Amino acid sequence: MRIWSLGSGSKGNALLVECGDTRVLVDAGFPARTLSTRLTAIGVAPGSVSACVMTHEHIDHVRGAAGAAKRWGWSLHATPGTAGGYGELADAGVAHFEAGATLSIGRAELTTVRTSHDASDPIGLVVTDRASGARAAIVYDLGVVTAEVRESVRDVDVLVIEANHDEGMLRGGPYPRYLQNRIASRTGHLSNRAAAALCADVAHGALNHVVLAHLSETNNDHGLATQTVSRALGRTRFTGRVSTAAQHGPVGPFCAKHSRTTARVEQLTLF
Ligand SMILES: [Zn+2]
Ligand SMILES: [Zn+2]
Repeated sequence: MRIWSLGSGSKGNALLVECGDTRVLVDAGFPARTLSTRLTAIGVAPGSVSACVMTHEHIDHVRGAAGAAKRWGWSLHATPGTAGGYGELADAGVAHFEAGATLSIGRAELTTVRTSHDASDPIGLVVTDRASGARAAIVYDLGVVTAEVRESVRDVDVLVIEANHDEGMLRGGPYPRYLQNRIASRTGHLSNRAAAALCADVAHGALNHVVLAHLSETNNDHGLATQTVSRALGRTRFTGRVSTAAQHGPVGPFCAKHSRTTARVEQLTLF
């Protein structure tokens, strides 16, 4: 399984997940033209993408979905709250699913998990490649890590997790107080510290990659976010890499190599 971030942050989000020849876009928060440019830049024809699954109705996640689906024949998938929360999606033929449901798209199996965010019916995802067994979690736009989210990201090969802001930079930054409070709330965005705590909790020796996503351009710094999370991971068995997703261009591919079961089987054989 390979994953690219096509762009991540408050100005737009889109992630491409590839399982063999199955290509699924998670969010389409850029205009179709930008999606086309960025997919082409990573060598992917937009018409080769089968589906787009949307996490929630905020414009930075859905902006280009209806246009792109029409142009390239993608199927669209969202919770009823997400589909009903953005005008253009009303007659875009969105297939509905409930938070917690598992979707099957080609070789990809996508299990959804409810997230805590100020949207109608937001979700995160765990994608499993049915052929290789590789798994990737994609969780951003959440104010807190619920027990449900924590459990769902425990056994993955790649973890894409929000590291939106540094708490000090947010409080000392230019945003008005009400906006600072909204971001820091239980239905806002995840801080570097909270992302680091989650990573330290769920990291295991076979976790290939941690990708920090949805970084604020105002209240965060890529070096600081990486340092905060890497320091926490340094106290675990994690030997993989930590990267950050950029707002203005593609980053990747991040390869999910399935070695967890193998490691477990070897361990079982030894004893
Ligand atoms: Zn967002
Ligand atoms: Zn949002």
